[in-house]
Amino acid sequence: MRPRFNFMWFWAVVAIVIISYSMFGSSEERPIEGDWNMVDELVEGGYVERIEVMDREKASIYIHAEAIDSLAQDERFKRMPKTGVQVVFNTGGDVQYFAERIAAAEAKAAELAAESGTDVEAVVVKYNRTEQGWVDYLFEFLPWILIIVVWIFIMRSMTRSAGGGGGGIMNVGKARAQMSDRNSKERITFKDVAGLEEAKVEIMEIVDFLKHADKYKALGAKIPKGALLAGPPGTGKTLLAKAVAGEANVPFLSISGSDFVEMFVGVGASRVRDLFEQAKKVAPCIVFIDEIDAIGRARGKNSGFSGNDERENTLNQLLTEMDGFQTNAGVIVLAATNRVDILDKALMRAGRFDRQIEVGLPDVKERKAIFDVHLRKLKLDSKLDREFLAKQTPGFAGADIANVCNEAALIAARHGKDCVTEADFLAAIDRIVGGLERRNMPMTDKERHATAIHEIGHATVMWRLKHCDPVLKITIIPRGRSLGATWYLPEERVNYNIDHFVHKMAGLVAGRVAEQQLLGITSTGALNDLERTSKMAYSMVAYYGMSPKVGNVSFFDAQGQRDMFTKPFSERTAELIDEEVRRLVDEAVAMAREIVEAERENIERLAGVLIQKETIFSEDIEEVLGKSAQQIEKEMLEATTAVDATDEGKADGGVTYVIEPSADTTNE
Ligand code: ATP
Repeated sequence: MRPRFNFMWFWAVVAIVIISYSMFGSSEERPIEGDWNMVDELVEGGYVERIEVMDREKASIYIHAEAIDSLAQDERFKRMPKTGVQVVFNTGGDVQYFAERIAAAEAKAAELAAESGTDVEAVVVKYNRTEQGWVDYLFEFLPWILIIVVWIFIMRSMTRSAGGGGGGIMNVGKARAQMSDRNSKERITFKDVAGLEEAKVEIMEIVDFLKHADKYKALGAKIPKGALLAGPPGTGKTLLAKAVAGEANVPFLSISGSDFVEMFVGVGASRVRDLFEQAKKVAPCIVFIDEIDAIGRARGKNSGFSGNDERENTLNQLLTEMDGFQTNAGVIVLAATNRVDILDKALMRAGRFDRQIEVGLPDVKERKAIFDVHLRKLKLDSKLDREFLAKQTPGFAGADIANVCNEAALIAARHGKDCVTEADFLAAIDRIVGGLERRNMPMTDKERHATAIHEIGHATVMWRLKHCDPVLKITIIPRGRSLGATWYLPEERVNYNIDHFVHKMAGLVAGRVAEQQLLGITSTGALNDLERTSKMAYSMVAYYGMSPKVGNVSFFDAQGQRDMFTKPFSERTAELIDEEVRRLVDEAVAMAREIVEAERENIERLAGVLIQKETIFSEDIEEVLGKSAQQIEKEMLEATTAVDATDEGKADGGVTYVIEPSADTTNE
């Protein structure tokens, strides 16, 4: 590899040249250093031809050429150069004294000469000042130059490492907003955003405000300043904003919340100012701030201790820019976040983000539309049922669906197929939810049996309780960190009551219960189930006010601002909460136990099938357990809503368990 040129080498060479010049530069013979005695002696002896005094201090003495050899007899003058300056001498800066002393010495020389009857020439004395050459200047300023170069070098690398990108130290306070190019080939339009119909309408209305502001102003309406896109990760907030950029015929500046954050104090605020200045120059325009929670977090009361002053300054600047004294007419701010609960209230008030647009998880219809968008680019099996795929992916966000499509194509390619089939999609979904298959994991038969009992325990209890989610399939192929899994289709509902919670909890603890009842073992495999059950019970009691003993109070902290050490309830309430959580979990365990006891044989039978097949589906379960409680419930509902509704709707099949509201199940 060719070594890369590094500027440090250049500076090293310069330094070496300068140092060696100063050390060995004048390799010719040097003049000898003299003192007053020597000077007096030379002048009085009539040896001196001239003296040049440089800058009042440095005197260079030139000896008569014919006297040099005779002087060299003397040991002190032996090393004296034959040409140029022979002796140098420091006058001490007092030129007058110097002149007087030389004059005195000359007088003495004249006297001596008169005595011996010879002549003596007068000494020529010249006073000069040094003209500084470039080398001298270089020597004088070199340390400063070096310091400045090193300083710039450090600052540049600091800016770069702080994610500064281009621009250097002088541009640290500038906002690096990107102006989107409407003519780009990869332009995203609303066609690329599936579903989200309401959000699209709202957001297009905002674009319309900008484009036809006069229409609204004529009626006295004020143009909104901003809209906040809020929703879980991967639901398409950024995509929606990009589509606005593609569709709107106004400039679109986008920046991420974290771009305001820098290690230097005051940079965040300055970048906010700069962003709005840029925006005002091109107004009417849209500014999009992604992940606004990076700067918009609620300001704390005791910010002095939290050390987040810089973030707060940035937020304050944003608040001022959005609705301060300086109006930003013609600039609409769109922002996206998935933590709307932690945003500062001042940011959310009308006049800043007037509108909040919810971008939620897609429902089954929207998921199908998202599949349609992402399947466009794939080579698909003609029999592929998109509705089926949408049904198999409840709770998936748009980003997850995009991931499923890509993963399915990768799986198909790995198996050498020429198109992507349904099986590839199912494998992709399994992989995304459960992790990588680990078929080679060493497991004994006993362990496999215990896993099967555990999973069938879950499935059976869920099959029998009407508020549990419908079981889809069970597998004992280890994936990721789990040894087996029961797959179910989560119901798409937003409101839950106590029965829903207790049934779900019973379904969760059923694995542990089945192991205990049928095998007499208590294993670590239930960790995740127990964790989820306990959290569910805690949220029922402490958040949703679902415990009669604790009452209709909620200790939920939506803002996440409560510190870890103070509890908003007394010790007595804490004990009550513990007690109630325990009661609810015990109730769920008792419910699961009852079902497991009743279905002992069926569970054993199903476990046998599962061990043999490794994966079984709802049809296999139905063969053994009959119709599921959810199916019975559905049929009953259909029957009662039918015009000729009779009581016949109560189909045969399994038993449906309900909780009696007053039931205070004791722990066995
Ligand atoms: P985050 O809050 O984590 O930033 P986000 O809501 O901004 O997430 P996006 O970045 O917009 O999510 O979405 C990620 C990817 O998911 C998109 O690039 C797109 O491929 C896909 N996607 C999400 N929602 C949709 C949708 N409604 N239609 C089509 N594709 C979607």
